[in-house]
Amino acid sequence: MSYVFWNARQRVIAELAETIAATYFKKAPIEPALIADEEGISYCYGHYQNSFDGLLHCQEEHFHIFLNLDRLGERDWPRTRFTFGHELGHYFIDEHRNELLSGKTPAHPSFNKLFQKNPVEIEADYFASCLLMPADFFRNFCVRSILNEALLENLSKHFQTSLSSTIFRYYNLNISPIAIIMSKAGKVEKVMATSDFKFWGRPVKGSPIPPTTVAGEYYTQGKKYDSTEQLFADDWFTDKNAEQIQLYEKCYYLANNSVISLIWIKERY
Ligand SMILES: [Zn+2]
Repeated sequence: MSYVFWNARQRVIAELAETIAATYFKKAPIEPALIADEEGISYCYGHYQNSFDGLLHCQEEHFHIFLNLDRLGERDWPRTRFTFGHELGHYFIDEHRNELLSGKTPAHPSFNKLFQKNPVEIEADYFASCLLMPADFFRNFCVRSILNEALLENLSKHFQTSLSSTIFRYYNLNISPIAIIMSKAGKVEKVMATSDFKFWGRPVKGSPIPPTTVAGEYYTQGKKYDSTEQLFADDWFTDKNAEQIQLYEKCYYLANNSVISLIWIKERY
């Protein structure tokens, strides 16, 4: 998907998801099950081993969503709610629904992944994040709040979304300058930064995580921090403006020897 095309698609999908959220809800949390009820989509929570996380099935123009608790956990867990929102995306996004209605694809099995590669899955994930965390609600919650881990945790509780999906939504809405560095087994997987994040000389995919960063301490010494840590910008960035500027880094440690580093500039008071 080209950048320009994806930008245009994002706008269309956000508008669709947020209009649906605003039709049924005046405030968070958004309940995907209620939207399904209102739209005449049936659904069930069951035990389907490892077949899928969620699945949208179409038969004779009737849509049914299956949610697999063997992989998702409980009905009201953020992961289950996100998957429900994702399946609703396959229903509400015209191209996805028409594909099912045409009978070319009988059902749409989906798996939760931090980084999806299939464009159809990327679109349904984006739909879920806009549906569960509508921009207006999300921005209003952030008004007069500076970024810190408590804000992210409060957002995640308020919207009943996972911390990682909340962080990506915060990033996506460009609320304040932040960078997200994903790493795995000591190497950079992906670097994302908002347009106003001022440091360049960013680590590139495949490069080793600098040992003086918080993520670096995990990979080199096995140290995990629950709290947000302070460091200097030149620990992460080779930008000549990075010296002596203090940053915060909050690490979220995932399974598979992976870390999400959330990085932002320390406010001056
Ligand atoms: Zn899917």
